[in-house]
Amino acid sequence: MRNNKNGTNVRLQGIAVSPGIIIGKARLIDRSKQKIIYQYIVNEKDLSGEVERFKNALQTTRDQIASVKNNLPDQLRQHAFILDAHLMILDDSMITDATIKSIVEEKINAEWAIKKSVQKISKIFNDIEDEYIKERFSDVENVVERILRNLSGKEQESLAVSDENVIIVAHNLSPADTTEMNTSKILGFITDIGGRTSHTAIIAQALEIPAVVGLETATSVINDGCLLIVDGYKGEVIINPDVNLISAFQQKQNYYEKYKSSILRLCYLPSETTDGHRVTLKANIEFVEEIAAAKDHGAEGIGLYRTEYLYLRSKGIPEEEELFNDYRQVAEIIHPESVTIRTLDIGGDKFLSNYQSSKEMNPALGLRAIRFCLKEQEVFRSQLRAILRASAFGHVQILLPMISGLQELIDFKKILAEVRTDLEKRKVEYDRDIRIGIMIEIPSAVTVADILAKHVDFFSIGTNDLIQYALAVDRVNEHVAFMYEPYHPAVIRMIMQTVKAARDAGIEVALCGEMAGDPMCAPILLGIGIDELSMNSGTIPLIKKVIRGVSRKEAIEDLNHILGLTTAQEVRSFIEKNADRFLPYIKEINSLQPSDK
Ligand code: PEP
Ligand code: MG
Repeated sequence: MRNNKNGTNVRLQGIAVSPGIIIGKARLIDRSKQKIIYQYIVNEKDLSGEVERFKNALQTTRDQIASVKNNLPDQLRQHAFILDAHLMILDDSMITDATIKSIVEEKINAEWAIKKSVQKISKIFNDIEDEYIKERFSDVENVVERILRNLSGKEQESLAVSDENVIIVAHNLSPADTTEMNTSKILGFITDIGGRTSHTAIIAQALEIPAVVGLETATSVINDGCLLIVDGYKGEVIINPDVNLISAFQQKQNYYEKYKSSILRLCYLPSETTDGHRVTLKANIEFVEEIAAAKDHGAEGIGLYRTEYLYLRSKGIPEEEELFNDYRQVAEIIHPESVTIRTLDIGGDKFLSNYQSSKEMNPALGLRAIRFCLKEQEVFRSQLRAILRASAFGHVQILLPMISGLQELIDFKKILAEVRTDLEKRKVEYDRDIRIGIMIEIPSAVTVADILAKHVDFFSIGTNDLIQYALAVDRVNEHVAFMYEPYHPAVIRMIMQTVKAARDAGIEVALCGEMAGDPMCAPILLGIGIDELSMNSGTIPLIKKVIRGVSRKEAIEDLNHILGLTTAQEVRSFIEKNADRFLPYIKEINSLQPSDK
């Protein structure tokens, strides 16, 4: 992108991570690194003073992060674990001890010494292949940037924005940065770096404000105060738009707003096709705090409670009591609806530092989920006890991730039986009819779904992983993201095979991967006959809108046509062509493409 600070209608393309359209003034945040760091030799007699100066900077940084953490607004409280990670980085010996050692042994200033420590850490991160973990190096940089500022005695540029509504433009934003802002005055965020898993994305979604990341050159081509249009649906940013473009986007913005409130009104209507076929819509959650939003969006229960975040948040393995209290709260708040608690799905791109290292060559194929739990049985038993105990306080179901075949299920049932016996001996209450389900997310489980179906009460299809494993496309690798294809005929056939096995065995089948919340996929899933779709609660109204606008008969007819198609591209164009019938709103949204021509 050429440097076009004064041109009009300059377009930048990034990655859309939080939806919405905003028009407003840019507020450039200088989070630029301490660009020039000088090296100087420290006299022997001053060395202890230099170490002291470094330690003071560490302490100030620690206090600043702790204070940000303590003042988190409610919507962000569930993300406090990110700040804990920053505190842990701050105490890591690769930062602290290594820097002090360099100061003392090489007689150099603290700034230069910490720079050397970071270079070493950067090498380690560079060798890591996992994109998600690689991206976490930005956390290290962020913490070090704070230490450097504190060493220089400079104030961090205040992020408290003035009284205008502004769009924050930054090289990168850490959760700590975001929490310093008065978010009620911020229209959205755009950043040079970051991907779909970046923290800016997570935070923007939690705050429900539009965000585009990965724009690469935003901070160099955007002037503070200039006008911007940010399209959080398409990942586009327009600098200095002209009046025509502004009015076109204003129209688009109004349309979206009206559209959003029109579908929100549907929340409490039944999720039923025009010919009376019901599909249950539930919410996926990671934290108990999300249940309120799930209910507000009309969720008929929690279809997937991903439990790993409680483990990631606490420094070690949480106590059974902590887990029990959390699960009990979820069960009680969602009552009379049910919650499906998935047992620990750790590994892949989520690690427990005490138990696992990220050194596996292929973590997605490694000691993940049920494999980890069957190995670390005490961890597993404690979680199962907590879930069973919570089942006495509401309607709880257990869901097992990453089942590849019957043996894991047999091993699980043996452990569960022992846990139950133990609870019974101690006269602890639990739901003796608790339903057990498995995630169908590994191709081998699809192939033997008929065998598995005889041993469980329900299936939940995890398309996020099923697509990854079926198509051999790493779900967190940007370079193969274009091949990650829900419309691939292999994926559609696998879903169908799973549903047939469930039907034959008379059990229910849910789908809880991202496909469940994709309006373009809804008609296919309706045609296939999935009983329950579980998704991020924000998308429930849209999926309900689609379901209420279509008949099951039409969906089956379209599915039959789709089954005759041979590539994902053919399936996609067929669905897009029919979008006006199935998804009139989507078609309208897509047709609203303001142009600056
Ligand atoms: C899935 O794999 O589709 C799923 C819902 O689980 P997760 O995204 O947690 O792996
Ligand atoms: Mg999964």
